[in-house]
Amino acid sequence: EDTILKIDNLHVSFKTHNDGETKAVRGVSFELKKGETLAIVGESGSGKSVTAKSLMRLLPKQNSMIKDGQVFYEGKDLLKYSIKEMQKIRGSEISMVFQDPMTSLNPTMTIGKQIMEGLRKHQAFRKKELFKKAADLLELVGIPSPMERMKDYPHQFSGGMRQRVVIAMALACNPKVLLADEPTTALDVTIQAQILDLMKDLQKKTGTAIIIITHDLGVVASMAQRVAVMYAGEIIETGTVDEIFYEPKHPYTCGLLLSMPKLHAARSTKLIPIPGIPPDLGQLPEGCPFAARCPYVMKVCHSFSPSKTEVSETHSVSCWLEDERAPQVEWIDGAGG
Ligand code: SF4
Ligand code: MG
Repeated sequence: EDTILKIDNLHVSFKTHNDGETKAVRGVSFELKKGETLAIVGESGSGKSVTAKSLMRLLPKQNSMIKDGQVFYEGKDLLKYSIKEMQKIRGSEISMVFQDPMTSLNPTMTIGKQIMEGLRKHQAFRKKELFKKAADLLELVGIPSPMERMKDYPHQFSGGMRQRVVIAMALACNPKVLLADEPTTALDVTIQAQILDLMKDLQKKTGTAIIIITHDLGVVASMAQRVAVMYAGEIIETGTVDEIFYEPKHPYTCGLLLSMPKLHAARSTKLIPIPGIPPDLGQLPEGCPFAARCPYVMKVCHSFSPSKTEVSETHSVSCWLEDERAPQVEWIDGAGG
């Protein structure tokens, strides 16, 4: 088997202040193969980060709940692991990089010490080896004069350099899976490209499988082999990068492509934002969650949720337009209807 991570029918809810329930993730399933990069893409609030945090068991306990589903890592269900077992997995088997590097760094501790602590948690090293290994990691992620920089504190690094440090820490124990949640969103475009190149380089050397979470299709194009598009807590389309970019089937995916500036070569191309807003996940309407915004909405869409249709071996979509069981098309005039 070349599958390293398999998420099956994940459902996650949040409690709202008035005892309601927000269904943030609804029946998400996907697989990650060894050494590949899968991008999870969607607008903010679509459930991307919640999905990632659930599989790392990092959701806040007070107000969130994994209601159903399984997360198989090398065949074993992580959702059944104890807190202790999970701590062992985190960092050594599955690592995470977040948007803001400061959330992963301790501002009061030198960079060198932080990396060495990370290393020591999962492997026994002698002190001298530890220092050398930490400096090597800094060098690997492209920090100039790593030996000297070991003594510096996080605030003495630029944003891009800090994210490099976080990546070094995430890779310290050769994890098999790296979860990167908007890792370059806070950085300017040039630095962003450098960090993405760095991640690709390291992946070539280590064979780490990557899940990259982003709202930016430019990042998807430069990093991923496969894409899962999320909307309102569901994966509504999944396929290879080529299938998603050149043969998108879901009206939402098409809308995303048209609204993304980076993909348009010609500056004059008019960007078309998707009109409307996603549904309230605490009060989901019947039927397709995209119906209120969909230019192709049909009567059936308002009553029944579309189920997954296979377009090819690698491409599937949840939309009535692609489902041959859909009743004879009854168009509803005007989007937003
Ligand atoms: Fe649009 Fe209907 Fe497809 Fe939903 S199922 S995306 S409303 S056509
Ligand atoms: Mg997010």
